[in-house]
Amino acid sequence: MNTETSFVPLTGGCRCGSVRFRMETAPIITHCCHCRQCQKVSGSAFRVNAMIETHHLTILEGAPRLFQRAASHEEMQCAACGAALWSYHPKLGKALAFVGVGMLDEGERLVPEAHYFTRSKHPWLILPSDLPAFESLGYPAKPEAGARITAALAGSGHAPSAVAAR
Ligand SMILES: [Zn+2]
Ligand SMILES: [Zn+2]
Repeated sequence: MNTETSFVPLTGGCRCGSVRFRMETAPIITHCCHCRQCQKVSGSAFRVNAMIETHHLTILEGAPRLFQRAASHEEMQCAACGAALWSYHPKLGKALAFVGVGMLDEGERLVPEAHYFTRSKHPWLILPSDLPAFESLGYPAKPEAGARITAALAGSGHAPSAVAAR
């Protein structure tokens, strides 16, 4: 199945409804991140993130603001309710967005394909044995993701090698 062409766009929005957006194409990869920042942002044990080229996100309503988090991850938030819509990884820049799957109206359509930062995973959580899991960042967790990441970073000033080095 070619998810690039068969993907039905996913709409999403913040808690208060001021910001609405649409994910126009299938994400590069959907993953669960157990890092301390994602725990803070989600207020939970982990955050489910969908990595996608930022230009495949369309803002339908409202004007999200850029919020610089303490740990250098920049994040797009609703100015009214503060909900974190998506974030940018400091090593990847703004060409790639990490959309909070919980922000989507039908986030259940995106099934996690990998687990990252298991070193800070809450110990009660048992991960499925059939998914790749990484102590920190894993790159790439699926082969076809590499080409899209490289293409998104081309000309952005953020070399893919910087990611591999993590
Ligand atoms: Zn809002
Ligand atoms: Zn994280």
